Amino acid sequence: MAGRSRGGCEALRVVARCRPLNRREEAAGYERVLELDVKLGQVSIRNPRAGPGELPKTFTFDAVYDANSKQADLYDETVRPLIDAVLQGFNGTVLAYGQTGTGKTYTMQGAWAEPEKRGIIPSSFEHIFTHISRSQNQQYLVRASYLEIYQEEIRDLLAKDQSKKLELKENPETGVYIKDLSSFVTKNVKEIEHVMNLGSQTRSVGSTNMNEHSSRSHAIFLITIECSETGPDGEEHIRVGKLNLVDLAGSERQSKMGAHGERPKEASKINLSLSALGNVISALVDGRSTHIPYRDSKLTRLLQDSLGGNAKTIMVATLGPASHSYDESLSTLRFANRAKNIKNKPRVNEDPKDTLLREFQEEIIRLKAQLEKRGMLGKKRRRSSRRKKAVDGESATENEGEDDNEDGLEKNMENYLKEQKERLEEEKAAIQDDHSLVSEEKQKLLQEKEKMIEDLRKEQEATELLATKYKAMESKLLIGGRTIVDHTNEQQKMLELKRQEIAEQKRREREMQQEMLLRDEETMELRETYSSLQQEVEIKTKKLKKLYAKLQAVKAEIQDQHDEYIRVRQDLEEAQNEQTRELKLKYLIIENFIPPEEKNKIMNRLYFDGEEDQWKFQPLVPTGGNSNQMKKRPTSAVGYKRPISQYARVAMAMGSHPRYRVSEREPGPGGGGEVTGEVGWGWWVDGG
Ligand code: ADP
Ligand code: MG
Repeated sequence: MAGRSRGGCEALRVVARCRPLNRREEAAGYERVLELDVKLGQVSIRNPRAGPGELPKTFTFDAVYDANSKQADLYDETVRPLIDAVLQGFNGTVLAYGQTGTGKTYTMQGAWAEPEKRGIIPSSFEHIFTHISRSQNQQYLVRASYLEIYQEEIRDLLAKDQSKKLELKENPETGVYIKDLSSFVTKNVKEIEHVMNLGSQTRSVGSTNMNEHSSRSHAIFLITIECSETGPDGEEHIRVGKLNLVDLAGSERQSKMGAHGERPKEASKINLSLSALGNVISALVDGRSTHIPYRDSKLTRLLQDSLGGNAKTIMVATLGPASHSYDESLSTLRFANRAKNIKNKPRVNEDPKDTLLREFQEEIIRLKAQLEKRGMLGKKRRRSSRRKKAVDGESATENEGEDDNEDGLEKNMENYLKEQKERLEEEKAAIQDDHSLVSEEKQKLLQEKEKMIEDLRKEQEATELLATKYKAMESKLLIGGRTIVDHTNEQQKMLELKRQEIAEQKRREREMQQEMLLRDEETMELRETYSSLQQEVEIKTKKLKKLYAKLQAVKAEIQDQHDEYIRVRQDLEEAQNEQTRELKLKYLIIENFIPPEEKNKIMNRLYFDGEEDQWKFQPLVPTGGNSNQMKKRPTSAVGYKRPISQYARVAMAMGSHPRYRVSEREPGPGGGGEVTGEVGWGWWVDGG
């Protein structure tokens, strides 16, 4: 299915997954409010506080997975086609959305040490490298990155320096990317698993309370797969597939108090990315919106392609079955239901600029040429490599043309250098034995020879370095059957194939059932003929009742949505009030303790950097003189440490806003207080 289309529109695939009741819920005797129809792909949710006659709400998805579902069911049926598409050069995204504790991390990551509990991320590793090992006449390069968005800051989970915050940049050709994000080229499952574990460790180490942290941060595992292949035109083409595996922050409404009673400072911020996600989805689905607010958060900017753009996207909505999570489950179902209507336009990314694979290929060619120049990859070498193969008898494929397995490389180099050295030593001895030379001359010649031997040694070192680099780079280019070998046996392969067929069949059956259901409703009207007036009245009354019930359901839905809207609005207003109060305080301080001329100086230098979403200081412009030197001057030129503190931001925002004036008195030249300007500065900045 996926990957067949080389363009065109395609809806977001949305599936729902419900975890089993956990022990705590069982012990507390919570009832189940979710009903899943796996065959039909439907979830029904019953309001535990429902009055009599209130029907459960039903949602239809591309697939649903109940408490008995296995990780492999979800992978084979839903995710596998997406990964296949990524291997062909499409962009792909999997988003796990849902309340904390409903199985997002279980779905994405799972318990990777237990094979049947592995989630989407580790399963995709197996899938990707097995595919590559079975490929023919293709070269692959696979690399991985791991990042986290927490409080609207991007953290590279694979970087050494964890304090560094990364920035989003935009390239007109390749779109949004993260500057300086580290990525690791991986040759096999083990290596990429290592990358995953490294990042996961960093993630948990960095937080004092992992649960709270993970419920408020978004984790994104990124895999980039580049594939080069000779096309029908005889030219080599590179396709690039990018895979985003996203474990979103918990979708629950943040409670006003933290777990330990304190007010969570970041609550409003962490909601930003998630609420922006909701807004982007709403805007995409609402046909009238011309503006999609991708720029409102880091997450939506990063996922721009995945939502309404060039990517195939799957959303897994995770649900808790118990009555106490009714509100959150319903809200998740509604969110997922809306997302179904997003249309993407995926296409194969062919021959983009700046692929790492091309860089590698060129570097390998360059290294090879250098080694050849040093006589390391000459004819002699090829002969010896072939001989070695014959002896080992393990490599069945005879590579035609210029084959460059490094087998003979070292031996060859060793021989060459040994020969050279022996020759020099011989010559040295000859000089020593030559009695016709004067001792001075002899000494000079000997020194010359010594130097030549030393040069030779250096040359040897340099060549070794080159050879090592060459080997390392070549090993990273994955070629099926050569640098990466498939170890599954025929029986396993058959089993895999069967599983995939079954998954495909299940999917088709469900699609047909859903289609039939839809048609049933449409044709209900047409099929009926009546034998008597009495019968007509009866049937029509029944139909009327049905429609009336439907109407009531829709009305209730509207009321629910309205209530939800009001709640969100109240939250926003509350947040706004809080910020206004904060602003007033800052304004009071600024107006009373900061000399106006200092304030003006700062204001004149401030500008807003839209790219980084931050206020910044213009560099001090010198009146003549060396401007370079001036530019390099840190922003602490006036004696403060940070480029811009929160307070400066506030100062800017309020400078022209009469509403926030708290002091009637204009501050005098001394700053309006006893504190002198200078002391005021130090306190103002450092004390913040
Ligand atoms: P989230 O990441 O959404 O906060 P987790 O993935 O951490 O939730 O899941 C919470 C708990 O429920 C974990 O102990 C996890 O093992 C368990 N769990 C979640 N989904 C399932 C499932 N489908 N089957 C079995 N256990 C699950
Ligand atoms: Mg989690």
